[in-house]
Amino acid sequence: MLFAAICLFYSCKEDPKEEELEDLAVVEAEPEQILEFGFNLNDYIVKRDTIRRGDSFGEILERNNIGYPQIFQIAEKAKDTFDIRKLQIGKPYTLLCAKGDSLEKPKCFIYQPNKEEYVVINFQDSIHAYTSRKPIKYVEKEVTGIITSNISQALDDQGVSVALAYKMSDIYAWTIDFFRLQKNDKFKVIYTEKFIDDSIYAGIDNIKAAYFEHNKEPFYAFEFETDSVRGLKDYFNEEANNLRRAFLKAPVEYKRISSRYNLRRRIALYGNRIRPHKGTDFAANIGTPIRATANGTVTKSSFTRGNGNYVKIRHNATYETQYLHMKKQNVKAGQYVKQGDIIGWVGMTGNTSGPHVCYRFWKNGKQVDPFKEDLPEAEPISDSLKAKYLDFIKPLKTQLDNIPFSSSEIDSILDGNLITEANN
Ligand SMILES: [Zn+2]
Repeated sequence: MLFAAICLFYSCKEDPKEEELEDLAVVEAEPEQILEFGFNLNDYIVKRDTIRRGDSFGEILERNNIGYPQIFQIAEKAKDTFDIRKLQIGKPYTLLCAKGDSLEKPKCFIYQPNKEEYVVINFQDSIHAYTSRKPIKYVEKEVTGIITSNISQALDDQGVSVALAYKMSDIYAWTIDFFRLQKNDKFKVIYTEKFIDDSIYAGIDNIKAAYFEHNKEPFYAFEFETDSVRGLKDYFNEEANNLRRAFLKAPVEYKRISSRYNLRRRIALYGNRIRPHKGTDFAANIGTPIRATANGTVTKSSFTRGNGNYVKIRHNATYETQYLHMKKQNVKAGQYVKQGDIIGWVGMTGNTSGPHVCYRFWKNGKQVDPFKEDLPEAEPISDSLKAKYLDFIKPLKTQLDNIPFSSSEIDSILDGNLITEANN
């Protein structure tokens, strides 16, 4: 009871205007509707709080004057929609309580597991529960930048989230090395931002189109849906070539490449004789997920003294890959895997001195260095879609081309050539 009083006090303190509004409402005819979670909040006493350590659904309702038999009933009815034991500390919840009831008994419990979703357990009349989403608005934005030190700085200067840089580096992973950007490299991006309930910023949603000038060479990227049934989207350039390759660059998020493919490697331990290394070693912590670098069928998932636990995948008639020294495999021979699927975890089984993945790459039965190969692009646009794609990107490309670099960006560049270029 004491706690309920504190709660109430807390909610009053949090939003004193609400009380003033209510007072005014007595004088004025119609109070303005405040819609949230699909309810008109004016119809209730609204108590907002967050789940605290030790809180449970039952305790929250109990300290708001609901008795245990009813709590049990509510929990039973709601359980198919929402498991009330899943309340997480720190997440917000809202109680809609009856007006004109001295006990201010709750009629509705609303829990927000994340910014977009909310769970309503309504026990106003009959008990029912459902999950819903807040309305989301997407707003298109444009940003330009000229690299002076790095891309994060270029975005930060304009108050744009660094998340955009990550998205760009993903899109251009095969065309531009984001660790080696040049001063005066430039970019323009058309992207969307997400807003919940019209006003709450919820981050960058998506890049629709981008232009990146690296070493004076232009790289366009346009997002296009290639399979509307499965909702597959990819980025293509102005000639409809896929920007992604059929293979990931690396099977793990690695700390460093500890040893590259090298046919003339000499090892002191072996009397400085040549011991070719036909793999690429990616050092990573034990337990780091190892991912299939391309779609394919697992041909081996086994153990040898040298390889330790390893997996081999055949991708097509030309390419195979192999992953050694795993702590444990996550796939079986014969299984089909997709690019990015976790096939095992980094370990140090077999002949190795530290935790890493030895990644081996075969082309036509011969081991080659994947970093030196011109790897095939991922799924090209089908001939039937190509004309549609070229039509689709036309206005986007014009839009991109017409975005000017802002004058402050140009001023900050001391290079005279660039100023003329940017003004063109
Ligand atoms: Zn190796």
